[in-house]
Parts: sequence; structure tokens; C-alpha cells
Amino acid sequence: MSCALCKRKPPKIGSEKWVGQDGTTVRIPVHEFIVASVSSPDGEFDLCEDCYKQNRFPEHIRRVMDLVHVEFGLEFLHEQRYQECIEACERALAIRQSPAAYEAEGCAFLRVGKTALATECFMNALRLQPGSAIATLNLKRIRHSEVGK
Ligand SMILES: [Zn+2]
Repeated sequence: MSCALCKRKPPKIGSEKWVGQDGTTVRIPVHEFIVASVSSPDGEFDLCEDCYKQNRFPEHIRRVMDLVHVEFGLEFLHEQRYQECIEACERALAIRQSPAAYEAEGCAFLRVGKTALATECFMNALRLQPGSAIATLNLKRIRHSEVGK
């Protein structure tokens, strides 16, 4: 996994230990910066966050920019960089509506306490993909927490 544009490979700076309920542990590598893998119709490529933020892309990447934004939205969500996640999802949605972008944005809104906006995102995800498990689960959770108030 090295960036398709600058060819950098993120150095591994450590690993996180996760312990399962049965006591087994897995280690997940932690990298110095994000390199997202984008699956486009023309094949898969990796892109680092610096190149992503520089906003200058060759034609073959510009053609799948919505997928690039969604992928970074998911990466930022995992890194708990919620504001950046929301921005990436908004940019993806401005190009093309997708359930994945709405789901990631909804999760980020939820984490920063913007429940009404999160609800809207999950509703949109369900409109595009009626069976979306992430959207259904989160809407149930939101309703449950509102009933509990
Ligand atoms: Zn790069």
C-alpha cells in the first residue's frame, strides 16, 4: 500500500491491541498518516491524505472522485476526525448520492451530537438502499434514546 501519486508508504508507528470476549487478541497496525484504498471501475489504487488534501488529481482519479471522498470519509470516521469525515462525505454527495456517504456522515454527526442531521443522513441512506443495516440500526438507536428521555 503506497500512494498512487506521491508513491509514499506510511511508516507503521505501532499497533493497537484489541481483546475479544473470548480473550483472544488481535493487533491492528497504526500508521503515521492515512492511505485510503479506492476501488474504482478501472481497478484499485491507494491515495494518501496529503495528496487528497492537495486537491490536484490526474484525470483517472478525478473521474472517480466521489468514491475517493467516500473512502476518506470512512477513514476519517475511523480516526475519529469527525469534522473532516463530514466534509469528505459532503463533497462525495455533491458529486453523487450514495448510501455509504450518508451512512458515514450520519455516524459522524451522531458522534458530535448532531442527532437531527444524523437522522436525516440515515433516512437518505435508507431511501437509496432500503436494506441498509447501518442506517436501520442507528435510526433504531436514535429513536430508543429519544423515547428514553
Ligand atoms: Zn500521496
